Amino acid sequence: MLGELREQLRSGSAEDYLCKLFEKIERSKLNGFTTLAKESALQQARDFDRDRSPGQGQGLLAGVPIAIKECISTRGIQTCCSSRILQGYIPPYDAHVIERLKAEGAIIMGKTNMDEFAMGSSTETSCFGPTKNPWDLNTVPGGSSGGSAAVVAGGEAPCALGSDTGGSVRCPASFCGIVGLKPTYGLVSRYGLVAYANSLEQIGPLTHTVEDTALLMQIIAGHDGRDTTSAEGKSDYLPVKEGVKGLKIGIPKEYFGEGVNKDVEKAVWDAIHTLEGLGATWQEVSLPHTKHALAAYYVIAMSEASSNLARFDGLRYGLREGEDKDWHTTFSDIRSKGFGPEVKRRILLGTYALSAGYYGRYYLKALKVRTLIKNDFLKAFKDVDLVAGPTMPIPAFRIGERINDPLSLYLADVFTVPINLAGVPAISVPCGFAGHLPVGLQLIGKHFDEATVLQAAQAFEAATPFHEKKPEVV
Ligand code: GLN
Repeated sequence: MLGELREQLRSGSAEDYLCKLFEKIERSKLNGFTTLAKESALQQARDFDRDRSPGQGQGLLAGVPIAIKECISTRGIQTCCSSRILQGYIPPYDAHVIERLKAEGAIIMGKTNMDEFAMGSSTETSCFGPTKNPWDLNTVPGGSSGGSAAVVAGGEAPCALGSDTGGSVRCPASFCGIVGLKPTYGLVSRYGLVAYANSLEQIGPLTHTVEDTALLMQIIAGHDGRDTTSAEGKSDYLPVKEGVKGLKIGIPKEYFGEGVNKDVEKAVWDAIHTLEGLGATWQEVSLPHTKHALAAYYVIAMSEASSNLARFDGLRYGLREGEDKDWHTTFSDIRSKGFGPEVKRRILLGTYALSAGYYGRYYLKALKVRTLIKNDFLKAFKDVDLVAGPTMPIPAFRIGERINDPLSLYLADVFTVPINLAGVPAISVPCGFAGHLPVGLQLIGKHFDEATVLQAAQAFEAATPFHEKKPEVV
């Protein structure tokens, strides 16, 4: 899709295409965008249209617009993580991924809504209000990259970037019926990504097709010295390898049964049988520590958040209003006004988990569980090439349904957080419907083996019609 779009823009007009998107966004009910970079984007499109020299339009995304999640730094465009505390912050630099996109000719069209500081699975905690799911405006788009997923699914942007700390690319991809990939930890530089829980998160693509995700990976993956966790080396993701003949797929018994919606379970099993029909084989595997993943994830994520968010104090970063009083009062005034309730809850719990006396009982314990979870995957990958299961145990839920019950929201992340704890890559691809709402199949790969994840996902996509279905609302 993106490849064809690029060709069309080369012979047609990038400006016209972009104008149509902006008109659509103006009429939109989704609330997916937070800021539109209209002027700079249109200027870039005009420059692209004007320059018809032979060397022009060679970039992999030449003239193609892309939407960017609020927490990825964009020079000259507000980056506030959908938090009151950072409103008005305009970064003086681009994140690594943005530099890479620009080098390939992409046009940054605007920023997309998210849960405040990426803490959530529904995009309801944003200071800009909730984003809506294009398949049903009364339901959430998933989160925390809900804006990015909604604008792609709703036809307001051809592709987007999100970030995934515990599922935030895959969950909204699943709820909105599109493709989303969480790369291996270290594969994509986090330079310029505002940190929530930095040992877990990666930036990832949200697109209509697997090939488009591979194309974005081709651009954003690769070593960057400014991120100390950035891995050396770089693979090629294009062209995506064809077929699944002989691929061995592991089905974790812990990923089915209690708590999993029946329609979701059926769609995922149908998908496994489709892959089998295409020549893959499957066998049951066990990931026995799955039941501890949520507890470990939330202890680690909140601990890291409490440390990462300490910089938002109105002195170094963040809101500064009213009169300055003594340091302590000013500091707590700013933070209590600037942060929303979910962020405060996590800072408090994270600080508690790290405090002297409790550190060993919570944080250290969680790190040990993290190793056990990673070892579960390493063991499974001795026998199989991929692991498959549902991305989310449920389809999109109604706006407001879970927001006052944080625990029920956290529980929805049961199949996405183990992947971040282990650092392995995983994709969500549309695999059917539960009623009128999309369901995602999650394919999990070995460290740095995105190629096989993309290969299986593309074979599945080619054999099924789900990625072609579009919501009617928009
Ligand atoms: N829902 C998870 C959380 O709230 C994951 C969020 C994310 O991946 N950024 O932490």
